[in-house]
Amino acid sequence: MELIKPKYRIRCEFGVCKNFANMTIKHSRLGIGGALNICSECAKGLMDLLKNEFKTAKKEEVVKADEDVETKKTPKSTKNKSE
Ligand SMILES: [Zn+2]
Repeated sequence: MELIKPKYRIRCEFGVCKNFANMTIKHSRLGIGGALNICSECAKGLMDLLKNEFKTAKKEEVVKADEDVETKKTPKSTKNKSE
């Protein structure tokens, strides 16, 4: 994930927001068409939302995620190299 500044004046794409976007969130695997243009107001709202989400989810997932990481990572990285 990458946070870049929009090159043009572009509207925030977050719901019905009417502000101009002042940041673009781009996933490293997608082109610019897959990016999300969002204003700082919406970004803040999103940040708070995610913060709360991770705060509550963390307690339950810490143990689970620990087991999953090693089994999931190994087959994926070998597959990418053979392609
Ligand atoms: Zn917005």
